[in-house]
Amino acid sequence: MQSTHLREHNLSAILRALATSSAPTSRAGLAKLTGLTKPTVSKLVEELIDAELVQEGTPLSGGTGRPMVPLQPAEGTLLAIGLEIAADRLSCLGTDLAGREIARREVRADVAAQRPAEVVAQCAELVAALRAQVPRLPLTGVVAAVPGRISPGDGRVLSAPNLGWVDVPFLRALAEREELAGVGVRAQNDNRLSVLTEIDHRPGESFVYVRGSTGVGGAVVLGGTLLDGLHGWAGEFGHTVVAPGGALCRCGRRGCLEAYISAHALRSQAGLGPEVPLEGLVDALARSASRTEVIGTIGRSLGIAIANALNVLDLSTVVLSGYLSPIAEEIAPVVRETVEAHALAADIGPIAIERSDGLADPALHGAARAALQPVFEDPGAWIPRLR
Ligand SMILES: [Zn+2]
Repeated sequence: MQSTHLREHNLSAILRALATSSAPTSRAGLAKLTGLTKPTVSKLVEELIDAELVQEGTPLSGGTGRPMVPLQPAEGTLLAIGLEIAADRLSCLGTDLAGREIARREVRADVAAQRPAEVVAQCAELVAALRAQVPRLPLTGVVAAVPGRISPGDGRVLSAPNLGWVDVPFLRALAEREELAGVGVRAQNDNRLSVLTEIDHRPGESFVYVRGSTGVGGAVVLGGTLLDGLHGWAGEFGHTVVAPGGALCRCGRRGCLEAYISAHALRSQAGLGPEVPLEGLVDALARSASRTEVIGTIGRSLGIAIANALNVLDLSTVVLSGYLSPIAEEIAPVVRETVEAHALAADIGPIAIERSDGLADPALHGAARAALQPVFEDPGAWIPRLR
């Protein structure tokens, strides 16, 4: 490796180690985590501190010896923007390198009723308004979370049934907006972004992730790494079949999980409007049917999809997110009963059904986190810009 490449690689290793470490980390600790020598770590850390990418915390005294100086990604020196396009709102979140929320904007709207061009214009305006709140901070990038399948090459939205979008050149339209000139913009499936914070909280773990939202989506994580699949679509649990020839799904097929347990499907079956928020969905359903019945219906359909996934992937942990997260303990017995009847993994040991970390806007936070990626990948490129 050439020396400049080596330096870039080492700067990235240090910054990543600080961002993912769960305990306060000193220069000596970084040397252990990265395998670099202490003098190398010290030199590179000084560069990162000078460029305001890393900051020192309050020294911690640990009994004898010199107090330990913890290091962390710098607060308030950079801005990363996550954007979420949902059926009922557009949200925009700005965080710093430490992942702290700096600014937030939201517009409630019937997004599905609007033309894609109008949605793009509103997204660009939201980003501009958020940037105007913190004009001093250099922008690392913008990542948009979209509830649909994205073309891996050019960011076209191939299908987003809950927005009514088919083959929309979303990313190109967004990047062409004046408000986003010169800004790195990317688009990614909302569920694949949601799972990023879960991966941080479960380092190295393997699990199936299912998120109940307007639609139903998910992801597969193997040894702490998100499974992409051939096109980056792995984990589309919403359109796995739980009842052949069953209810019509918004994707045009029949019997998909999403046609039974998405918020959209549950609301329409119960005659509820879109004004019933995701957080209050199960409570609202339980006003017209018994709660046991509601939980049973959702849990049995979910259990079939999960059993199939666990059989294919040889996994035994399921993490529930979105509206499924707060009811995870309540729904677990029903899901477990269905899963144990069908999943081979149940013969080996218990299936773990867990709730996600409960972050209110996982896709939005995941998008902002993904917008920091250019800095973590190559902090060296940001040093001259920030000096
Ligand atoms: Zn479907």
